[in-house]
Amino acid sequence: MGSISELKFIVDNNVGKLVKWLRIMGYDTVFFDGSDDSYMVAKALAESRVILTRDTEIMKRGLVTSGRLKAILISSEEPEKQMRQVIKTLNLDCQFRPFALCLECNQPLVGKNKDQVKDRVPPHVFQTQSQYVECPACHRIYWRGTHWQAMTKKLKKLMNETTK
Ligand SMILES: [Zn+2]
Repeated sequence: MGSISELKFIVDNNVGKLVKWLRIMGYDTVFFDGSDDSYMVAKALAESRVILTRDTEIMKRGLVTSGRLKAILISSEEPEKQMRQVIKTLNLDCQFRPFALCLECNQPLVGKNKDQVKDRVPPHVFQTQSQYVECPACHRIYWRGTHWQAMTKKLKKLMNETTK
């Protein structure tokens, strides 16, 4: 494995809620929604991604047992507990790269100035926010609004509970 800052993930569809949380933290994360585990394993190996799954069969694969591929078997059905397990196991930093990745498509976000987003965000947002980022793929615009703050707050709470 490379350094902790280079961690990348592939999330199995049985723990899909983890995708957005990892992207919010800034970790490059792809979602695997197929049924062919071999494809997921091959992609994880090719792109040096950590597999997050609830599938015990994945953990029995030679690539995983030999340590060539890192996989974490998620124990809980509850998204918050799942996230806590990942944070704790890999010692993740919730402030790793805030506002770095699109939550929908995992693309690196691009900074925009106010004038560039003027007609594309609600007026009350335009009046109160000065920093914006845009996804080059889906063209969603993000700002540090209440939704983002709520998610960041929840993450910090999770982190605190994890380190206790
Ligand atoms: Zn996007």
